[in-house]
Amino acid sequence: MKITAIVLCAGSGERYGTPVPKQYQKIRNKKIYQYPLEALEKSKHFSQIILVIADGHEKYLEEHDNIKIVVGGKTRQKSVYLALQAMENTDSVVICDGVRPFLTKHLLDDHIKKLEEGEIAVNTCIPCHDTINIKNGDAITEIPNREHYLRGQTPQSFAFSPLLHAHSTTKKCYTDDCALLLEFGEKVSYVSGSDYNIKITTPLDLLVAENLNL
Ligand code: C5P
Repeated sequence: MKITAIVLCAGSGERYGTPVPKQYQKIRNKKIYQYPLEALEKSKHFSQIILVIADGHEKYLEEHDNIKIVVGGKTRQKSVYLALQAMENTDSVVICDGVRPFLTKHLLDDHIKKLEEGEIAVNTCIPCHDTINIKNGDAITEIPNREHYLRGQTPQSFAFSPLLHAHSTTKKCYTDDCALLLEFGEKVSYVSGSDYNIKITTPLDLLVAENLNL
């Protein structure tokens, strides 16, 4: 099975509030995006790795051999679609956030196993420890049972053809690719993620990441 990995780095990082976008900030002398990239390179499962960056962000990159750089789009979904169009012939695709530095071999192996078992879409999820409150305006309208809720992380893995079909057909914009494939009636399965598989979104996340000895 030929598997292609995508590392998504084309976000502007605006919520983070520093001049250098968060994916290019350093944790212990290494830029954040290099961590997932190196985990993918080390795993040997992938026939191709594509790094999706924002136009003009080439200046933030280190030197990378055997990585294809693709300029992304305005939304995460567009960035994935552009990567799908740029990739060589592949059977499956593993999509990773460039801002999740603690991607592990174990997690990648779990995803590959699911793809090999024939799953079409595989998410990475962890339990929801906080209680989700649903609001309408400034009022809480519903507090659902948190046992029915999971928090979604990345990687998300897919069979290539249904993923490309969904991207080239949809007119709507989704938060991630599992949400897109659900809309196309595909079964989405999941593997267990980890509390350590954090997404660097705020300066607090960076502080936490710097102090995690992984
Ligand atoms: O904004 P969000 O938290 O959903 O971003 C998740 C990942 O998607 C980040 O790694 C970000 O760089 C990437 N992204 C992208 N292209 C965009 C927006 C986000 O590659 N237009």
